[in-house]
Amino acid sequence: MSLNPKRTVAELKELRALTGNENGAQRVAWTDTWLKARDWFAAKVKELPIEHHYDAAGNNWVTLKGTSEKTLLIGGHLDSVPNGGWLDGALNVLAGLEVLRRIAAEFDDRPPVTLRLVDWADEEGARFGRSLLGSSAFAGTHSIEADRLRTDRDGMQLEDALRRCGVDITRFPEARKEQKNAKAYLELHIEQGPVLERMGLPLGVVLGTKGVERHIVTFHGQEAHSGSTPMNARRDALAAAAKLALEIRNIAKKHEDAVCTMGSVKTFPGIVTAVVGRCEVTLDQRDLNRNVLAGMYQEAQEASKQFASEEHCTVEWSRLWNIEPIAFHPHLLDLCEQAIRETSGTSHRMPSGPLHDAAEVSRAGIPTVMMFVQSLKGISHNKIEDTKEEHLEMSVAALDRLASKTMTWIQQQP
Ligand SMILES: [Zn+2]
Repeated sequence: MSLNPKRTVAELKELRALTGNENGAQRVAWTDTWLKARDWFAAKVKELPIEHHYDAAGNNWVTLKGTSEKTLLIGGHLDSVPNGGWLDGALNVLAGLEVLRRIAAEFDDRPPVTLRLVDWADEEGARFGRSLLGSSAFAGTHSIEADRLRTDRDGMQLEDALRRCGVDITRFPEARKEQKNAKAYLELHIEQGPVLERMGLPLGVVLGTKGVERHIVTFHGQEAHSGSTPMNARRDALAAAAKLALEIRNIAKKHEDAVCTMGSVKTFPGIVTAVVGRCEVTLDQRDLNRNVLAGMYQEAQEASKQFASEEHCTVEWSRLWNIEPIAFHPHLLDLCEQAIRETSGTSHRMPSGPLHDAAEVSRAGIPTVMMFVQSLKGISHNKIEDTKEEHLEMSVAALDRLASKTMTWIQQQP
């Protein structure tokens, strides 16, 4: 049996029909629809000569044993955001399944290295606001105390939602066992951005995931009557925040792939007849280079102080979250580039703005690389998320080539 990328596309459509509706994919982790997707997947892998189990964090592992215990991991996630797209995460899993089928057939069910396909639990964090949940348990970077009391919109606790699916959060650290013998990790993903489409390329090598600095910036001024307060006597917190909103674009533009976003603005008292006395904004800054990221953070802080003083306000910063940039493995980047060139002729190296499970696997010290396939209009986390079928098929073929090359590389290791 040879690789059949058309089957991957057909299976993606099958999954969409089973777990989506007129608003898009509904495979939110720890819900019945997600469990339905996993059951469907379990039935698919039954045809293969594999061992199948769920680990202590709910990650879904399919193992094709090789003559060597040295292991190649391929991963993705079946979970989606509410009203999500049909490809985000699911393409990775089903392309990985097709690669497993090809390798099992080629080596008569006994490849030279062990292959494992993983469907990570709760990559999206859509319900409890905690992304990369299963892969962080695998990597050992997860903190149970920080997460167990998280609640969803209906007040249900994360801990209880997991228990309903047979997962005990206190046993999360046991998921680290799955790292055993892992020598490399591969992940195919849709780009979720417009870069490859603009370049006219189907596939790209992902250099790593950008680091993130995420903060709340609060400007304090003075609430005052909008009619009686002369313009030169105002301490307008929104005016200072607005200057910062424009300046962060200049800060990001100095660097090729850096991005800065002010995604939320809250004004107090927030009425039409008052000068804004307090303005809270969020700032999200990302870059692959840690020095660039640190520099942008510092520049934004200095700019905020300047604008606060120009508007006779004060400013304070509080960190919401941060993560360091993750650079993928240099040799695997080369293998990924070769696989793409052999499949589609031209390759392009680019960072990933979104985080992915691959970042957690890389943090665990396992050599990791990702491959992107073009997203139409760069849109994702939306029902209109799409990729040309010919590009989807190419991505399966390129992942398959990358898996072969990586298996050879693993065999060469002592
Ligand atoms: Zn994803």
